[in-house]
Amino acid sequence: MAVTFFVLALGPFVGSFVGVLVDRLPLGRDVVVDPSACGSCGTRLRWRDLIPVLSFALARGRCRHCGAPIAPHLLYLEILAAGLGLLAVLAGGAPAYVLLTAVMLWLLLALAACDLAMFRLPDVLTAALAGVVLLRAPDLGAALWGGAAGMAAFFALRHVYARARGREGLGLGDVKLMAGLGALTGVALLPHLVLGAALLALAGALVMHRSPQRLSGRTPLPFGTALCASAAGLWLWGVV
Ligand SMILES: [Zn+2]
Repeated sequence: MAVTFFVLALGPFVGSFVGVLVDRLPLGRDVVVDPSACGSCGTRLRWRDLIPVLSFALARGRCRHCGAPIAPHLLYLEILAAGLGLLAVLAGGAPAYVLLTAVMLWLLLALAACDLAMFRLPDVLTAALAGVVLLRAPDLGAALWGGAAGMAAFFALRHVYARARGREGLGLGDVKLMAGLGALTGVALLPHLVLGAALLALAGALVMHRSPQRLSGRTPLPFGTALCASAAGLWLWGVV
């Protein structure tokens, strides 16, 4: 009961923090010490500006000082993180497992959002994911093999793609991401993870293809986002 309340209450705040990570980590800015400020007028935000969802709704998505619109992705992340907290509770299990599910889903959300927004997978997040996965691994040896296989496969794929197309298709961030995701799935379920991600990326590409900015062979796709979504699905499905 206590964990349920904790996860549900924490979700929106985690979403706010993910918004800070997405805006700052890829630029190398500090995420803990720097106070939040309006990106337009620079006014420091106070506690009443930082209540997830509510502040955005009360100020109608604008800065209270200069009226500049606040990026809506901050609101979406707060709602998404709250929803993932709810999913963790609904997925059930012992209190410690509910908390673990929530942490995993939030970490995957942070990685997915960074890749989607900036085409970057910050080292601190890929390392945190690998750390959590290895700490909970029922079989550490199998997890390490899975992580190594995932990294090796993506490193090879990156090399082959760069050779064939003459440009970088997969970033090193994707390779590092596969350390944690490969450790999560193990070698046996690695193909499921990648296939799920490929289908999600294809679905995303089809949606984008219908949008005004047409997709070309050179449009970058955030494959890390698809990998994270696929991993979240496998986790919630209970197979990893
Ligand atoms: Zn402002």
